[in-house]
Amino acid sequence: MKSSTDPVQNLAQLIACPSVTPAEGGALTAIQTMLAPLGFSVERPVFSEAGTPDVENLYARRSGNGPHLMFAGHTDVVPVGDEIAWTVPPFSAEIRNGEMYGRGAVDMKGGIACFVAAVARCLEKNSALKGSISFVITGDEEGPSINGTGKLLEWAKAKGESWDAAIVGEPTNPARLGDMIKVGRRGSLSGTITVQGVQGHAAYPHLADNPVRGLVTLVDSLLYPVFDEGTKDFQPTNLEVTTIDVGNPAVNVIPNTATATFNIRFNDTWTDETLMAEIHNRLDQASRRHKLRPGKSEPVNYELNWRNRVSHVFLTHDEKLIGLLSSSIEKVTGTRPQLSTSGGTSDARFIKDYCPVVEFGLVGKTMHMVDERVAIADLETLTQVYERFISDFFA
Ligand SMILES: [Zn+2]
Repeated sequence: MKSSTDPVQNLAQLIACPSVTPAEGGALTAIQTMLAPLGFSVERPVFSEAGTPDVENLYARRSGNGPHLMFAGHTDVVPVGDEIAWTVPPFSAEIRNGEMYGRGAVDMKGGIACFVAAVARCLEKNSALKGSISFVITGDEEGPSINGTGKLLEWAKAKGESWDAAIVGEPTNPARLGDMIKVGRRGSLSGTITVQGVQGHAAYPHLADNPVRGLVTLVDSLLYPVFDEGTKDFQPTNLEVTTIDVGNPAVNVIPNTATATFNIRFNDTWTDETLMAEIHNRLDQASRRHKLRPGKSEPVNYELNWRNRVSHVFLTHDEKLIGLLSSSIEKVTGTRPQLSTSGGTSDARFIKDYCPVVEFGLVGKTMHMVDERVAIADLETLTQVYERFISDFFA
């Protein structure tokens, strides 16, 4: 039986699999090979949906008598980018100066490698580990996230699975291992505003209705005033206009339409519904302002379309779980981690509907970059944190 207690070996095997989203690339097989000898039963459901690639996922469970702990993560990775710019080939898992290089090293094959090693070490010390552990691993986190964790949890629940707590192994630390736990995430929603004008000659604006004037008026109302000042657990809600499009090649023509798309990251001051209502309200009021549209009496003729994929804001309130993870980190690293809700969304947004969830993994500095890499010392430290967390969780 091959030992999976070494996170460095585990990670080298995972990096060697070119699992660029949505390809499985051998990565789930590698995990299955590590977990089966540890007593896990492993299933690999494939999910499909029209218009998206089929994606393979992995659910592995080792049953015991006690609470059920979930570890969640993803084996898919983002593309390597400029391959010749890498110091070593991106799937070679070469070690240079105490760091292992490779796409997915920190985001987040490294987290999986460490958790597997931690479980293997726990079992080596105490083969009758109290309680159940499952791995919820998707190949669709870096892609559309449609055939991944959300469906995998539904699938497992339909089989009768339920969990008491979950830990996600995404890279949560900005600079040093032990810096930061994620205990919630901001919500995210996006929309596109289309303003319909009347095309005409730039020298005869009274005969036209320039949609750019209307669009600027509307966008201004979304950028000021601020939505809130932030809350105890979250930074202030922020809206970014991500593109403005007119597509007009002529300088002497007033265009017909203009569009703007925005993305908003919001805190727990808002729900999806109250925030959408606020944005509609701002746009409606702004549409009747005429400062930038002198001589026009009718309101700006606009349409707002929300993008489909909304992420809800959430905050984990399980003080015991947060405390357990914080003290495991402090005991191993000497650092008391900051509790944070910063950054983008993660698959924790799906898990929070099933059980309390916290996130802790490696240092994220090089994620998605050329020369993504992880300190070998961090792999050992994170394995020790996870091992401590598992044994304290089941104690
Ligand atoms: Zn990730």
